Amino acid sequence: MLKVSLTALDRGEVRVREQVPPDDPMWEGAGLSLVAPLDVDLAARSVGEGVFVRGRLRTTVRQACRRCLTSVEQAVDDTVDLFFEPLSEEDQDADGEVYPLPARGDELDLRDAVREQLLLRAPEFALCSEECRGLCPQCGADLNTDPCDCVPETAVSPWDALKNVKFD
Ligand SMILES: [Zn+2]
Ligand SMILES: [Zn+2]
Repeated sequence: MLKVSLTALDRGEVRVREQVPPDDPMWEGAGLSLVAPLDVDLAARSVGEGVFVRGRLRTTVRQACRRCLTSVEQAVDDTVDLFFEPLSEEDQDADGEVYPLPARGDELDLRDAVREQLLLRAPEFALCSEECRGLCPQCGADLNTDPCDCVPETAVSPWDALKNVKFD
């Protein structure tokens, strides 16, 4: 899955068209789930010492609303440019779209780069709506659908005690 043969790259452009299913181990620990398979359509070619991969990622991701934890679905449909270069350790991560090209082996594995690029395109703070009222901090009720009767706790200021101090 999502691998490019470097031998084939020597002969010309390599097309990578795959669908990564939502239950692929690649998404473990990603903090989101996929509602639909990730549609990957990439073209890889050799550029100098490295490999340039350009194409498109499409899917729908599901995340929890930051305030009320309801599922929020968001379509992702975007182009990506990835550069794989023979980097030294220090060079890595200089730019979010530059990845190390393995020194050995005859395959370039695109999975980590594709995973990272998808995560970059998912909302960092998913909200079901801008007006989401979130959960009651006291009873946990969803205040959008199920307003509760909790009285917000008022902060007790240490200075309040001084109000009762009497001076003769
Ligand atoms: Zn919400
Ligand atoms: Zn409450």
